[in-house]
Amino acid sequence: MIMKLYSTRNINETIDSKDAIIKGLSNDGGLYSPLLKDIKEAHFDIEKLLDASYKDISKIVFKTFLSDFSDEEIETCINNAYGEGNFGAYKNNIAPTTKIGDNFLLELYHGPTSAFKDMALTILPQFLTTAYKSKGSDSKVYILTATSGDTGKAALSGFRDVPNVFITVFYPTDGVSNIQKMQMQTSEGNNVSVVALNGDFDDCQRLVKEIYTDNKIKELCNNKKVVLSSANSINIGRLVPQIVYYINSYIELVRNNYIKLHDKVNFTVPTGNFGDILAGFIAKNLGLPINRLICASNDNNVLTDFINTGTYNKNRELYKTISPSMDILVSSNLERLLFLLSDGDSILIKNLMNDLNAKGTYTISNDLLAKIKEHFSCSFANENECKETIKDAYLNDKRLIDTHTAVAYACLKEYLKNNSDDKSVNVILSTASPYKFARSVLPCISSENIETLNDFEYLDKLYEISKEAIPQNLSSLKNKTIRFNDTLSYNDCKTYVVNKIGGLGD
Ligand SMILES: *Cc1c(COP(=O)(O)O)cnc(C)c1O
Repeated sequence: MIMKLYSTRNINETIDSKDAIIKGLSNDGGLYSPLLKDIKEAHFDIEKLLDASYKDISKIVFKTFLSDFSDEEIETCINNAYGEGNFGAYKNNIAPTTKIGDNFLLELYHGPTSAFKDMALTILPQFLTTAYKSKGSDSKVYILTATSGDTGKAALSGFRDVPNVFITVFYPTDGVSNIQKMQMQTSEGNNVSVVALNGDFDDCQRLVKEIYTDNKIKELCNNKKVVLSSANSINIGRLVPQIVYYINSYIELVRNNYIKLHDKVNFTVPTGNFGDILAGFIAKNLGLPINRLICASNDNNVLTDFINTGTYNKNRELYKTISPSMDILVSSNLERLLFLLSDGDSILIKNLMNDLNAKGTYTISNDLLAKIKEHFSCSFANENECKETIKDAYLNDKRLIDTHTAVAYACLKEYLKNNSDDKSVNVILSTASPYKFARSVLPCISSENIETLNDFEYLDKLYEISKEAIPQNLSSLKNKTIRFNDTLSYNDCKTYVVNKIGGLGD
């Protein structure tokens, strides 16, 4: 079966997955998405997967959604991405599910940059180069990426020295942790560049979207034989790999006798751009027995309000929290959820997104809201609740969790308080290594005076207390040279990109 992809803003525009991965975003600003009925039709028998490895499941999922890739192409992509080089000791199960109290953590942070973005960004470059080769194109691919901290480094790492591909990452000044900033500024490779944008993450995201739809830039790209693409979760090649770990996690629970086959489980997902949780929704529609998808937010609780009321309203202050990868007011992948649940009503989606652009807000019908509530619950945790949860997990569950995972755990506890009749097993998606956010995590579990310590002393101190190994990619930052230190205004970033494109074409 061929899984067709459509622009969420124009149902008449269809595209194969290779082109969708190369392009990232549709010319009309829409995202590429399948239809819900096609996903449901592609459902699989979970009992056939009980012995499947992470790579086996990947193969099945990728074949379903990337139907214009050959079996051989898919296999090569998987082997190049999910091996020892990227996942070290975790190569046989790159996303294990482990216990935390009575619940479970789905550990998504064992990749090369210690955040869940690695799950998709180790393989997206494989998809992209495969697609590009098979199209026989002689253009260069230029990837623009907006990051709230984790995507940037994962993309820089994944695309490092990939032939004919160039990448620039924009991160917001002050919006990322020190370690995240260092990770990006020290990036290696001859095809990478990093710019700090004087603004917040939504500015970065707006910049990238604006560049994609700018007609003058489009013309320049045509002249210079440059194709713009995206490593953000608007790229369908990011979304598809994320479906795999939901299935893998479920099967692991069955195999370890924590649940019986067909028992339903809840997944609580620390959410920013809605990519991670959307992959869970797709897994559910493929037939994975999921009860609730719990959308966890921090103080930037746009999504909590939206799922409660049906009105999305980004006209509010963006708070900087200790879970910076979720400090987002415009959740791009929500557009795909609306497209799926409205059965591909691209006129509706276009109107809603026009409202969002023009007024910063839109409201969906009660019908559509009811469809969302059928699957999703929501909650948010403030800074204090997040810190208390880290402390609590450490003292009571003997688990060290990062700030994003803590937001999810706090939201799950809130959910369970309000839904004591829900007896489903609960899995929390754990999206980052606690070491990546050591400055925020350590004070929650240590009463020592730590204010004067530098970033690396924080890592060491956290290790002293927890005895969990420091990821090598983080401890080795100490010896790396800063290569990228530019801070630019919004408009200068645009000029920067125009100049880059000019240079690539020569
Ligand atoms: C990106 C990120 C999230 C949010 O995921 P979305 O797919 O954007 O919703 C949560 N936690 C961490 C650590 C992240 O890097």
